[in-house]
Order: sequence, then C-alpha cells, then structure tokens
Amino acid sequence: MSEKTASNPGLMEKIVSLCKRRGFIFQSSEIYGGINGFWDYGPYGTALKRAVEQLWWREMVEKRDNVVGLDSTIISHPKVWKASGHLDKFGDLMTDCRNCKARHRVDQMENPAVCPACGSKDLTPPREFNLMMKTYVGPVFDEEHVAYLRAETCQPIFVDFDNVRISSRQKLPFGIAQTGKAFRNEINPRNFTFRSREFTQMEMEFFCKEEDSMQWYEYWRGERIAYYKNCLGFSGDEIKIHDHETLAHYAKAALDIEFKFPFGWGELEGIHHRGTWDMSRHGEFSGESMEYFDQDSGKKFHPTVVETSVGLDRTILALLCHAYAEEMAETKKEGVEEDLRIVLRLPPELAPVQIAVLPLTKKLADPAEKLHRDLRVWLRSEYDLTGSIGKRYRRQDEIGTPFCATVDFDTLNDGAVTVRSRDSMSQERVSMDQVRTYIMERLKR
Ligand code: ATP
Repeated sequence: MSEKTASNPGLMEKIVSLCKRRGFIFQSSEIYGGINGFWDYGPYGTALKRAVEQLWWREMVEKRDNVVGLDSTIISHPKVWKASGHLDKFGDLMTDCRNCKARHRVDQMENPAVCPACGSKDLTPPREFNLMMKTYVGPVFDEEHVAYLRAETCQPIFVDFDNVRISSRQKLPFGIAQTGKAFRNEINPRNFTFRSREFTQMEMEFFCKEEDSMQWYEYWRGERIAYYKNCLGFSGDEIKIHDHETLAHYAKAALDIEFKFPFGWGELEGIHHRGTWDMSRHGEFSGESMEYFDQDSGKKFHPTVVETSVGLDRTILALLCHAYAEEMAETKKEGVEEDLRIVLRLPPELAPVQIAVLPLTKKLADPAEKLHRDLRVWLRSEYDLTGSIGKRYRRQDEIGTPFCATVDFDTLNDGAVTVRSRDSMSQERVSMDQVRTYIMERLKR
C-alpha cells in the first residue's frame, strides 16, 4: 500500500476541519490533549457510520442465504492469538530518529536509511514490535492473566465455526460475517482515521472446498467491486485493485482494493485466500477437530477460507473524500453570505440527515414540526428553525443532506412544501402527504 505521498494535503485538512466543525469525527479525549490514534464520532458521524455498517450488513448477510452473522467478544482465550500467529508474528519493524525523535514503520519509509520527518540519517536499527494490545482478565495482574484485545474480527469466526454451522444448519459453501471493534498498537497512527489504534472492521469468512476456492475468490472480488461502484458510488478512477505479488505460504491469492485518498492510494479492503491455515491451526492448538464432514463425498477435511475484510472507518473516510466538493455559486442569492458552497455529495441512502424540514419563519413551526414528526418514522429527518434560509441550506449542504423541505406561507393554503435537491439545487413543489414517497423513491440508487 502506498499511503506515503501527500498528493492533496489541502483537501485532507478541509475534510478534517469539516468533520470537527459539523460533528462527524473529532479527536478522542480532546480536553486532555487527545490520545494519538483514537477518534470519536459525533452525532452526524455516528449516523453515517451506522448507515454504512447497516448497508454492508444488508449486502453481505441479509441479502444472502449462504452468509450468516456473528457477534463475538473482543477478548478471547489468549490461545486464539497464539494459534492465529498474532502473538509470534503480528508486528512491524520500527525505527526511531535520534535527531527529531519521530518513530516510523520501516515498510512505509521511502528510504529506510533516512528519516522522512527531518531527513536525518541517525536512525536506530529496525526492531520488531508486536501490535497486539494487552490487558489482564481477573483481579491478578500477572502473566497468567494476560489477555489481548482482538486485532481482527475474523479469528472468533474460525473458532466459532462449528457452533455457527450446526445452529444455522449451513453446509459448505457458506460464509460467516462479523462487524466490530479491532485494536492494533500501530507504531505511527496517521492520516486522520486511516490508521487508528482502535477501529471497526467488517469481515466475512467464506468456507468452501479447496477445489472451488479460486472460483469463490473471483466471485467475491466481483461482488465487492460492484458494491463500491453501485452502493457507494465510487468511480473507476477512485478505486483500483492491487494484486499481492508475495503471498503467505498457505494462500493461493490475495488482493487489496485501494482508494485514491488525498494522501495517495491506500488499502480499503483486503480479499484473501487463506487456504486451510486458520482452521487447521485452531484444530492443532485447541485439540478439537475443525474438520468438516462432507456428506456427498463422505470425506472429512479442513474447509478452505476466502476472506473479505474492510475497515468501516476507512470506508467512511473514503466516502467523505469522494463526497467533498466546493462550488462557486453563480449569483449571490438572498441570505447567502458567501459564494463558496461546500457540499458533501454522500449517497442519499447513507446521508446522516436524509431530509431537513425548514419552516421559513417561526409562525410556520406547527405544520413544519408535524411534517418532521411524520417523516422521522421513516427517514433520518432533522428540523431546523435557526438562521436565514440560505444559511440553513448551506449547513445542510455541508453535512450532505440530499433534500430540504421548506415550509412557507403558501403551505397554509396549498398544503405543499418546496423540496430542494442538494445536487441539482432544483426546487419542486410537493404536497405534504407525498413528501415521504417522493424522498424514498429518490433514496434508491
Ligand atoms: P495496512 O497494510 O494498511 O496496515 P492491513 O493489510 O494490516 O492494513 P488487514 O489486516 O487486511 O489490514 O485489515 C483489513 C482492513 O482493516 C484494512 O483493509 C483496513 O480497511 C482496516 N484496517 C486495518 N488496520 C487499520 C487501522 N490501523 N486503522 C483503520 N483501519 C484499519
């Protein structure tokens, strides 16, 4: 992955500033000076995050008969991480600059002999660093009670394979999906939420026969690309596939789906052929058989796994980068103080606010509040009475609201409102009892 070069740093600053200003994402523990690599999602960020997670779940689980869900704990038996290889191998090489004290991941340095922060060549020799976060379970804080926060959500999926398979009566091929928090003690968290120490993953492990596995790998590659294009609206220029040249010894293939962030191309999702590695390792370390009995052939074997693994936070960041736009208004309209329009062109289905109900004046509050109450049962609706109408439109543009319904004095006579579209800025008169249908039809992609 090539997250090294800052190709459009100005844009990144604007996005970070909008995220704070409008309550999408801000530094965790800010009043204490913040904590590096941890981010909080504010009201609009939370709404967006839930919508994206729900979309992924619908596309990967609810729309499929052969994928089922799991919600496992963050802390598992420590042997899980021994078996997975995380305790022995999951690390990066790091080096410290003796001159400016910056710490770097060696694989991310343009030249491993030169500090990218200050140019000094006075660097410590590279040393291994394990990324697992440690804690203790129980009242005694000694080595016997050490446990780890999961570094990926997929390991419990392998461990729970039989419990899930038997209770859901699934047969090969089928998948198990899980979304949830993962923790990595990243050496150098950076690029806003792109590399965090606490983040959310959305993973699906697909269990199949070894002879069918490459076909499933190709299938999931196609499905995931279609998801980025059709559900998130990313263009062919914004995403690309990076096939891994070097593979783990057990894997037949692996690729990253990369997004063109303002700081360069960065991994959004990994699609990995994991062979039988995880299942056989957990079999070996637990002493329990992780084999599958195939009734058709009468054979027992370890299922082969194809994984799709994406970060929710990176998806949100990609969506914000994709959606952010600045436009110069052609004419200065009444109530609009600046000519620059900042707009987030989020897919309407995912926007934190899908419809904003705006009464022109306080006198129109009653019908406007009623409309808002009716709409919010079905849609993410927001009611806003403060400031000039132009300012309210701009505020909604900035948080990506696709539609605003303005209640004006004509509403009292014709029972209709003016619906303004974020993208075309066109305005249409829509009867109040039709607003819901009007918006819902336009939410579909
Ligand atoms: P990278 O090379 O960027 O460190 P990785 O190859 O270690 O990533 P995976 O272990 O394949 O990543 O994790 C799957 C997905 O989880 C990634 O594609 C990414 O979207 C997300 N992810 C991984 N690490 C982080 C992190 N530190 N912060 C935010 N998201 C992450």
